[in-house]
Amino acid sequence: MQQDELWIGTMLEGRARWVAVRTTDTVEEARRRHELSPVAAAALGRLMTGTLILASSLKGDESVTLRLLGDGPLQGVVSVGNALGEVRGYVREPWVDLPLKPNGKLDVAAAVGAGELAVSRSLQNGEVYTGTVPLVSGEVAEDLVHYLLTSEQIPSAMLLGVLVEKDYHVAGAGGFLMQPLPGAQEEDIQALEDILGQIKVGISELVAESHSMDDLLGSLLGSLSYQVLERRSVRFSCTCSKSRLGDSLVSLGAEELEGLISEGKAEVICHFCNEHYLFSKVDLEALKDRVVSSAGK
Ligand SMILES: [Zn+2]
Repeated sequence: MQQDELWIGTMLEGRARWVAVRTTDTVEEARRRHELSPVAAAALGRLMTGTLILASSLKGDESVTLRLLGDGPLQGVVSVGNALGEVRGYVREPWVDLPLKPNGKLDVAAAVGAGELAVSRSLQNGEVYTGTVPLVSGEVAEDLVHYLLTSEQIPSAMLLGVLVEKDYHVAGAGGFLMQPLPGAQEEDIQALEDILGQIKVGISELVAESHSMDDLLGSLLGSLSYQVLERRSVRFSCTCSKSRLGDSLVSLGAEELEGLISEGKAEVICHFCNEHYLFSKVDLEALKDRVVSSAGK
């Protein structure tokens, strides 16, 4: 497959909806930017992929923030996405290394630990709604399904996966969501369960092997027919800039800025994308002038 995409569609004659997303390049960029260990890449990659799936139902410039607040060694995983297919995220401890599970898979649940999943939606009117649920497994997909059921009363099935190669690069990443729509019958729910039951390979492997989104959907849905309503591109994208981080330095106040000026320069790192911004003495003096002039108003 050439590039990351998110497709939205229906099946079972419109009685169920699905969202399929390929995030291989997006997760690889996150891994490279943050120098993530394999288990950290898997945890953040799954969360970023789930974020894009949840964000796919947002409008305009609305966004959704997902936080895995677990007591495991990652010490928290955060991801923010919007309806434009842009996502960014980070883990608190990017170099966590844990033994593989007996089945050879990365132990994401142990890395995340026990705790909560918080989902915050920022709406167009500026309001933010946050729902919090206890983590049921720490494997991310099950936790998001639990959130959708308990906080939003939407029954769902979700697959999220990241395949990390021995050389640490991300060979495949993606996600798949299925939800019955109003009007769905008992037999439709059974049909969705049957689809899940016949998927024997992890979604990350399916993404890695697929040459196109249609190819991936064929692997997931077998011979079942489906309709595609929307196709969007997906990418790692951060909202930071030197001017935004300058604003955060201004908010530290004149005294802090004076300290940085005496050191001659300051480097500010964006949590979300690990971009480094260098502020020279001249930059810092200009920021301090802004503090002083705003205080004088
Ligand atoms: Zn950034």
